[in-house]
Amino acid sequence: MWKQNYSRREFIRKNSAAGLGAVIALNVPAASSPGRSRKASVPAILGGEPVRTTPWPTWPVWDSKEDEELVLKVLRSGRWWRGSARDSVVAEFEMQYAEALGVSRCLAMVNGTNSLITSLRMLDVGGGDEVIVTPYTFIATTHAILETGAMPVFADVDPETFQIDPGKIREKITPRTKAIMPVHILGLPSDMVAIMDIAAEHELLVIEDACQAWLAEINNRKTGTFGDAGCFSFQNYKHLSIGEGGAIVSDDEEFIDKCHSYHNTGRPYGRMRQIAADGNSLMGNNLRMTEYQAAIGIAQMKRLEDETIQRSKNAAYLRSKILDIPGILPYRLYDNVTRAVFHLFPFRYKKEEFHDMPRSVFMRALSAEGIPSSAGYGGTLNNGLYLKDAFESKNYQLMYPREMLDFERFVEQNQCPENERLCSEEAVWFSQRMLLGTTSDMDDICNAIEKIQANAVKIKAGV
Ligand SMILES: *Cc1c(COP(=O)(O)O)cnc(C)c1O
Repeated sequence: MWKQNYSRREFIRKNSAAGLGAVIALNVPAASSPGRSRKASVPAILGGEPVRTTPWPTWPVWDSKEDEELVLKVLRSGRWWRGSARDSVVAEFEMQYAEALGVSRCLAMVNGTNSLITSLRMLDVGGGDEVIVTPYTFIATTHAILETGAMPVFADVDPETFQIDPGKIREKITPRTKAIMPVHILGLPSDMVAIMDIAAEHELLVIEDACQAWLAEINNRKTGTFGDAGCFSFQNYKHLSIGEGGAIVSDDEEFIDKCHSYHNTGRPYGRMRQIAADGNSLMGNNLRMTEYQAAIGIAQMKRLEDETIQRSKNAAYLRSKILDIPGILPYRLYDNVTRAVFHLFPFRYKKEEFHDMPRSVFMRALSAEGIPSSAGYGGTLNNGLYLKDAFESKNYQLMYPREMLDFERFVEQNQCPENERLCSEEAVWFSQRMLLGTTSDMDDICNAIEKIQANAVKIKAGV
């Protein structure tokens, strides 16, 4: 398998060196590829020739020489944890990541979930507080809020951008509101300018869940650097893949020192040394990243920018190609977005334009044509039973008045119809690894969708 990965890397290196024009020019599809653009041919789901049989790029990508050497160096050093040394591999990774984001500090840790929990806790968000959050996210976002004892409050999404709707945030503010937790979901930036305005107006904290948005930008400023804290994930499927891993970034030195102390079993770090009267006066946990993880992170950092450029180019090309297909509504970016990073490529599927073919059948037909896709987040987070589980816990029973823990009442007050429609009917995603392919790969996606649309009646009748 690594052979394939290696050649993928070679491809990116060669092409990114040659620049955008060259990438597109090199990958112009053969004009007469048979079966590809012939919309009328038999759909693969009914036994016809698929648009595509070649495999998609795999993930993660690594270099069998340079990357392995970095990891082996750690192994052979015998120092596998960061300890308190300033010259650790973890510290080097933190420095590089902070620099890439244009922020003064970074703290690496075990994973994205605990980066969120630590940020919330160190900003003193907890029992009795409300945190406004989007329902269209990975469940770890809301798990993190519940872990602190705070109450998630859901503000519905703007279905065109898939992001939390700032207008709906305003409606949800109460005297208990302590923080807003925007999630740059799918690697598309949320409307941080509007969100920061609301936060300033109401004196609220902002913790950005940027766990899918490495190097994304609004007005040339990186996501994760707008709020009081920005949190990232380096889990296996993420663009900066370490297997497991996470980070908090901030320009607030004291905050990061506090997070550092907490993540290192309360051992005072940096500015906390003066604040902590003795060695054992701070709360703590053990959330330290290992030296091997950081070595992989440093290796992955080398590819992140080039891969990000590749995904952005392919996403823009694919968007422009499918924009005119009736019933396919690709994502919209806010006007001030200077870079989206496409952890996923999302669009909305309107079955009315496909003779009422359900999304699930459309996706099966796509898959038969050689184009994998996902329906995205299925279980709606604003009414999931995991909330009830938290409300029934001893801590929640102690921290909140009874009516706030009434699950039915909560569900009633946290309805998000736009999110519901995205989850149950409309959203379709393509994986980030597909965007590491060529322009001709993007053409295959477009051709498959057009073929399915042209054959919608037949497919509906035949499956
Ligand atoms: C991946 C992810 C997380 C959690 O990160 P882990 O490293 O898996 O703990 C949180 N929020 C979002 C939006 C994510 O995609």
